[in-house]
Amino acid sequence: MKETAMTRFLDATAVAALVRSIGVQTALRQLAEHVRQDFLRWHRFEKSARLASHSPVGVIELMPVTDGEQYAFKYVNGHPRNAAHAMPTVMAFGALAEVSTGFPLLLADMTLATALRTAATSAVAARAMAPHGTTAMALIGNGAQAEFQVLAFHAMLGVHEIRAYDVDPAATAKLQRNLAGLTDTGELRILPMASIDEALAGAHIVSTVTADKTRATILRDEQIAPGVHINAVGGDCPGKTELDPALLRRARVAVEYEPQSRLEGEIQQMPADFPVIELWRILNGEVPGRTAVEDVTLFDSVGFALEDYSTLRWLHAAACARHAGRYVELVATPDDTRDLYGWLMRQDEAEGAPVTRRAAA
Ligand code: NAD
Repeated sequence: MKETAMTRFLDATAVAALVRSIGVQTALRQLAEHVRQDFLRWHRFEKSARLASHSPVGVIELMPVTDGEQYAFKYVNGHPRNAAHAMPTVMAFGALAEVSTGFPLLLADMTLATALRTAATSAVAARAMAPHGTTAMALIGNGAQAEFQVLAFHAMLGVHEIRAYDVDPAATAKLQRNLAGLTDTGELRILPMASIDEALAGAHIVSTVTADKTRATILRDEQIAPGVHINAVGGDCPGKTELDPALLRRARVAVEYEPQSRLEGEIQQMPADFPVIELWRILNGEVPGRTAVEDVTLFDSVGFALEDYSTLRWLHAAACARHAGRYVELVATPDDTRDLYGWLMRQDEAEGAPVTRRAAA
């Protein structure tokens, strides 16, 4: 009897267990290294802007990418008003397949992994662009992404003072509660702030991680001192921005993949010839991230499929090494590959057939 090909499946609980067993800060560091390595292989990837389906309440997007050996896609939504339905703003899942056969190796929840990869990518960009020795970060928006941003900047840049502001004080209280393990030992300080101006005072890194469907101005040009690095995460689809255009004109702006960022990033507010630098060029040393101490630098993050490929690659390797998740018969692979109907009719006999774990490393 032919063996059944199986796909490794990581549901949300399995991804969470895997990340906890590795440790969040170690996971962020490992993931950041995967992201950095893949950005350094930029020309190996077939890239495209993500395919977005907009509605009055949010967006659903598909994000494909391939390096010719493996193919990945992510499904992700963004619904800023989902909290009213007890649903997260961002939810995601993704798959990794082998290009040689098209067989899906891994199917995984990517809601948690999206927060990890967004924070890891922010930290990779900040390491190349932020002023050296920065220890204080203003964090505007303290929702689902916030802890991951804090931990990535702590683990990778040594940031230990977080000046936290959210229009909803309960969000800041949640951030403090969740990171109490690090604040109690003195590794981190989380200071709740009453306004954005208060949060910005003395912070040389500013992360904006707010959710609003309409054009918002979270930061105005005159609020930002020379030398500051801005990690702008919340503006990530058409019509959704966080920064004053005057601030963009003053900044040295890095983006992930220019064709997508022109549609979705802060730079959607700017003319088509507004100068930006793709992050891979900074990471490979072709262009400096910062040219002078007084530069205002900006990472205009929207989230690019390459980062999700890196994340799936990392998740798959970690799951194989730690035997995490389970195997599912995700796709039908009949004994006689051209007899799908016969396979359908023989399903009773197939019960208990041996399996091939194609997802094994
Ligand atoms: P969330 O809804 O959990 O949290 C957003 C927080 O922003 C809330 O606590 C809200 O009260 C706060 N907020 C809203 N308006 C504000 C304002 N004017 N000033 C201060 N705080 C304000 O959302 P999340 O999952 O944390 O995501 C945050 C944003 O990041 C979303 O816009 C999301 O689409 C975006 N995002 C971007 C990427 C990327 O790769 N760039 C990845 C994931 C999420």
